[in-house]
Amino acid sequence: MLVHQVEQYVQQVLPALGVNKLREISRLLFEICKREGTTPQEILQPDKNLTFESVKKTLLKRRYPVNFKTAAKNRFYLPKLELDPALQADLSARPFYPKTVYIETSVKDSELADRVKKAFPLAEFKETDGKTQVGSANFSRRTDTLLIHKEKYDFLKPCPCSCGSAGCGYNLINLGFGCRFECEYCFLQQYQNLHAVLLPANVDEFLQKIDDAHFNKGPFDRPRIGSGEFTDSLVFDDLTHYSQKIVPFFRARPHLQFEFKTKSVNIGGLLEAGGAENVVTSWSVNSARITNEAEHFTPGLTERLAAACQTAKAGYRLGFHFDPVVIYPGWKEEYARTVQEMADTLPIEKIAWISVGTLRFSRELKKMIENRFPQNFILDGEFLLDFDGKMRYGDEERREVYSFMMPLLRKTFPKTHVYLCMEDPQIAKDFW
Ligand code: SF4
Repeated sequence: MLVHQVEQYVQQVLPALGVNKLREISRLLFEICKREGTTPQEILQPDKNLTFESVKKTLLKRRYPVNFKTAAKNRFYLPKLELDPALQADLSARPFYPKTVYIETSVKDSELADRVKKAFPLAEFKETDGKTQVGSANFSRRTDTLLIHKEKYDFLKPCPCSCGSAGCGYNLINLGFGCRFECEYCFLQQYQNLHAVLLPANVDEFLQKIDDAHFNKGPFDRPRIGSGEFTDSLVFDDLTHYSQKIVPFFRARPHLQFEFKTKSVNIGGLLEAGGAENVVTSWSVNSARITNEAEHFTPGLTERLAAACQTAKAGYRLGFHFDPVVIYPGWKEEYARTVQEMADTLPIEKIAWISVGTLRFSRELKKMIENRFPQNFILDGEFLLDFDGKMRYGDEERREVYSFMMPLLRKTFPKTHVYLCMEDPQIAKDFW
């Protein structure tokens, strides 16, 4: 369905609308048509008695049947429809093989630079002083460019969580920026302004900073440090070999624990490094529909769980993140099936923690998702502007998710710490 067709139809039915009113009605009509697989003509028939107010009310009721009556009207976000086909994600299968590799002069003799040269002999290699502009204008072309650099500032920080959310005391080291998977909900689509994959060559410096730091352990027995904020922790590990340095480092520091958070099955480095009780290998898990339809290029659930079994056997503990949980018809049955598959497959005494978080995104990300993945179904739910400026399901729907997921997970994995991620403090308290 084309944006101008929707707008033209709205102008035909309600000819005297100003710009803002046209925007709101077109947005509502578009989202209803997309979700219901229908046309504007089927939803809104011409009638000389129609007014902006009556049409908006009718459409809001149909677009937000759960929240229409209870949500404050300023929580419905109705931005201008701006769909550019040129922004659509490229979902054709291809290996990760950058066309251009930039290597900063200061790390040109590093082990990582050496491995990258051997891994991509057909790429164009360029040396840079770190000031050169790199990357593509288009986020979808980000894997065309690889930058091997020396990180100078951003080594270690407490997880920023989300403004006003209940934190869990997590700490982050940013080993890399950019990912080759295409999860439809990924915040990097909107956050990453340098459209390339960045990998630091000075991982030892990151680790040094850890020895000098004081950590908050939150509600866990030891402070937790992880690397999966701006990339997937393991997606490039066969190239970076970060795990080969991280595992022995943490094995020697049992008062801390480190988490690799991934959707990949790139566990060769971990297996080679040998296990460590205080290193947790974590997988994002989801319902079959989300895994298969919204997490493009990622391994399926069964493969992820098989990789988890292997790392557990090697001596690592396990973590799982049901994040984001997405509400759609049949979601409970599908999430229950994922939990059951985990229970049937995994050594459950090895699972250190499981987190649950519902789908949330910034306003800008919503527009990115609908442009990059116009066929998505993840935006069809009822998202409202929330306490931290992000968009979330309404309180009642989120409570319904947690009322279903938390008891199920706690019953299935009774010795595991199950907690909520980035939630409103009151909701987090109710389900802690
Ligand atoms: S695996 Fe993580 S970082 Fe990679 S695209 Fe998916 S959400 Fe983004």
